[in-house]
Amino acid sequence: MNYSFILPSILIQLVIMGYYFFRPRLPIRLNRAFLAILVIDIGMELFDCVSALMNETWSVYSPALLTAVYLLYYIFFFSHCYMFFVFTVSILDSRVLVRSKLNVLAPIVYIPCIAVTLTTPLTGWLFRADQGFRPGPVAWFTHMCSLSYLLYSTIAVLRHLKELSTHEIISLLAMQGVLLAGIIVQWLVPDYIIFNTFCLLAIIVIFMSFLNPERFLSDHGYVFNLPGFRALMEEYYRRHRNCRVLGFTIQNYSEHREIFGSRQTDEALSAISRWLSETFSTLTIFYVHNGSFMLVGQSRPDLNVIRDRIRERFARPWVTILGDLKLSVSFVEADTEALQCPADSLINTLMISQAEAEHGDGRDSSRSLSDFIEEINRKLDIRKCLEKALEEDSLEVFLQPLIDCKTGRRIAAEALVRLRDEHGTLIRPDLFIDLAEREGHIVQLGEQVLCHVCRFIRDNDMEALGVQWINVNLSPVQFMSQDIPAAFARILQQYEVDEKMIHLEITEQSMIDFSLLREQIMGLHEKGFEFALDDYGSGYSNLSRVRQYPFSNIKIDMDVVRNYCREPDPLLPALVRGFKQMRLTITAEGIETPEMADALKAIGCDYLQGYFFSRPVPMQEFLQMPA
Ligand code: C2E
Ligand code: MG
Ligand code: MG
Repeated sequence: MNYSFILPSILIQLVIMGYYFFRPRLPIRLNRAFLAILVIDIGMELFDCVSALMNETWSVYSPALLTAVYLLYYIFFFSHCYMFFVFTVSILDSRVLVRSKLNVLAPIVYIPCIAVTLTTPLTGWLFRADQGFRPGPVAWFTHMCSLSYLLYSTIAVLRHLKELSTHEIISLLAMQGVLLAGIIVQWLVPDYIIFNTFCLLAIIVIFMSFLNPERFLSDHGYVFNLPGFRALMEEYYRRHRNCRVLGFTIQNYSEHREIFGSRQTDEALSAISRWLSETFSTLTIFYVHNGSFMLVGQSRPDLNVIRDRIRERFARPWVTILGDLKLSVSFVEADTEALQCPADSLINTLMISQAEAEHGDGRDSSRSLSDFIEEINRKLDIRKCLEKALEEDSLEVFLQPLIDCKTGRRIAAEALVRLRDEHGTLIRPDLFIDLAEREGHIVQLGEQVLCHVCRFIRDNDMEALGVQWINVNLSPVQFMSQDIPAAFARILQQYEVDEKMIHLEITEQSMIDFSLLREQIMGLHEKGFEFALDDYGSGYSNLSRVRQYPFSNIKIDMDVVRNYCREPDPLLPALVRGFKQMRLTITAEGIETPEMADALKAIGCDYLQGYFFSRPVPMQEFLQMPA
């Protein structure tokens, strides 16, 4: 026998095993199958070697000892064939739950082979050991077993080509090809123990393609990363296994990173990761992104205890070479038993809820994911309603009158968009304007609102209604679309409405120094539109900023109005005087009582708007109201 191949193979395999054992491993089926392959293969190689060596001087050993050694070799050999197949299935299983007949029928070859092996000392079917090794009448079972599992594996891969990437298909087929080559070469050169070397090659192929432990490890070491979290949650979900997840996020992580620099924050993250992995050794820990960690436990861990330990530790600073970092955290928790949602939505919800928690106020907060899921579902419903309404042009526009202080009568109105859900309940604009801005619907929404308003002006006698103009709200995001002045002018032309009838409101918060915004406002102003500055006092704009824009009206924010009415001070009257000197007219928003109306009228406001006069009402109702 020639042993020149087997010894280096065993050594290389021991190196892989050592490397694999001493790195953190994700508790998923793929890793367990690979570990089994490594152990079984080492066993097979050792017994292959030992049995060949003993066979050379068989007369020295008792037949019973020889039989035992051969027996173990065969058990390892059959298990090895079977485990490579199980590994292939577990790769497929991480994509789709393989329920095929293959999976169920798989042990049909393995079990008889093991049974034949175990009974061989009595029957001599597989081998005899009385005069050294002699193959028995069913010695061909070895080839039958290895070839069947290679065939099964190849069929399994070919049946699930769609779920695998090209790289994965090539790797799995290469693994099968290498094992087949091993069987053929061993058959051609029976004097060399060479099959094991091919097995090692197959192991290297799968190790490099699927199991490099770094793949699921976070950059900060000690803990796993987001792909690892996804892999584990998907496996739990597919196998109907429940777990509890406690996530926490470092509040204002991005700001910390900017202030303290990436090196110090990274060091703190490494320190946190190390502390977590040392403190909670029974949990699987992940660093998912932007200062967010997830701790996953399967055996119903008490999340309150874990949370308290983390809180306690975060009460003290994290020591890094560059200095100490004091961090606050927000928690989110989930019990998959209670939630029963697919891994993907669970992960998405956890991530969104953590992203929200990042902007914490420094206070320690904690929330349960089930509340959050309700919130997300509500947002999803709103999104669906909005998309449907935009498509069907079924958004509604309500009107709220603006009262002229001089006459006490209606002089104008503000158009406020309304969305109805499928039960006919109104959804507040602050719940969907943001969404429309983020999802790229705001331009369409703005144009639909303007069309409604123009139609209203065209179809009704504005003079008889006492309405000299209608205010339409504009979102700063609408200005991103280059042709706003042209688009608006076109709509007005279509409905034959004079530009002077439309005043555009821009909120103070959107008044960032932004050249496109200024350019567009100027473009619209040149076309004849008037502008009002909405919610004045809620942001940071100063008078000099206001002067750079062609406003004709300033709307004082309702909080400012409310505060002034509660505790009058000279600031608001001075501001109003200042604006008036700049030839701007003033509207006070949020007037809810006659006292408020009197107070704001007294300091020189030109127009008043608020529930005291009327809530925003549907256009038809507005027409019925006395002018
Ligand atoms: P806004 O432009 O400041 O509109 C005034 C808001 O105050 C309206 O809320 C109105 O119903 C409410 N309001 C009026 N009088 C009173 C009062 O006396 N007391 C109180 N508590 N509230 C009063 P609404 O309709 O919910 O709109 C909220 C915001 O949504 C608006 O604030 C505006 O920024 C935005 N919005 C509404 N319609 C549109 C639109 O068509 N396009 C855009 N881009 N934004 C819109
Ligand atoms: Mg407004
Ligand atoms: Mg306002």
